[in-house]
Amino acid sequence: MNTLTSFSAVAAPERARIVVLATGGTIAGSAATPTETSAYQAGALGIDTLLTAVPALDEVARIEAQQVASLDSKDMSPAFWTILAQRVNELLADDAIDGVVITHGTDTLEETAYLLHLTVKSRKPVVLTAAMRPASALSADGPLNLLNAVTLAANPAAVGQGVLVALNNQIHSAREAAKTSTYAVDAFQSPEFGILGWVQDGRVEFGRSVVRAHTTATEFVIGAAWPHVEIVTSYAGVSRALVDGLVAAGVRGIVVAGTGNGSIHASLQQALVDALKQGVAVVRSSRVGSGHVMRNGAALDDALGFVSAGSLNPYKARVLLMLALAAGGTGPVMLQRVFDQY
Ligand code: ASP
Repeated sequence: MNTLTSFSAVAAPERARIVVLATGGTIAGSAATPTETSAYQAGALGIDTLLTAVPALDEVARIEAQQVASLDSKDMSPAFWTILAQRVNELLADDAIDGVVITHGTDTLEETAYLLHLTVKSRKPVVLTAAMRPASALSADGPLNLLNAVTLAANPAAVGQGVLVALNNQIHSAREAAKTSTYAVDAFQSPEFGILGWVQDGRVEFGRSVVRAHTTATEFVIGAAWPHVEIVTSYAGVSRALVDGLVAAGVRGIVVAGTGNGSIHASLQQALVDALKQGVAVVRSSRVGSGHVMRNGAALDDALGFVSAGSLNPYKARVLLMLALAAGGTGPVMLQRVFDQY
């Protein structure tokens, strides 16, 4: 066999087959003029328009697009999470599909991403992307973010990394990504831990992986039941009225966005102790935005029956608490095990 024959016998690698699920957001936003970047309608454009704006996508992957919703993600709901997670799981169970990209608004992306990170039952790549400027804007960031997200989802290095977030050339883990700016295109950070890697000009490089259990290694399956869990914040002069109102409304869990290391104002703390006696789960997180909440750092948990959220921000802690309660989790020992594991 000569060299030419053996070369021609090797089939060119097939482009990955990626499904893009569109949910709306600023990446699909449209404003009256190109200079308007704050007053616009999120989710105004369909996924076909977004894909047509990026012809280079064709070279990266064979793409199939589905418009799942046209939401401003400020209006995201657990009911929609059920639909989305089920759709992702169905798609990834198909051997012909290599990965999923989800276009999403930035406002609640960190919550949806973490929910999927805990409930997708596949090692195939799932990448969320978004934009800070509407598609109609000068220097819109959506088209390149979309190209990079598909590039990442099509890359074998993204397999088994859990759900990923790709914006501004950076790769974040869904567990850690958080929106940290109201306007900047580098709005997303992974406080404390940093990015997993980067994607640029068709190249993908990972510098680290997440070590906490995710996707196929979790005990959570997506269901239709979402226990009522809310977040309350501790601050100067906070009253107990919100907690008392939530208990009266039948809340199952409360995440406290505490001050500093998850410390809680005395009046709020007493309300939470009373809530706990009514069977409400109480998880301490921090409103600070980075760092972690040490269990018993404020001598609260063993004494009062609270759970520490560790390094999860309040919004991600709420997602985990909802899943844990839905899976039948009860009591501070079991719930602390869940927060230590994920
Ligand atoms: N409100 C928009 C959304 O979350 C913001 C964005 O996408 O940047 O859908």
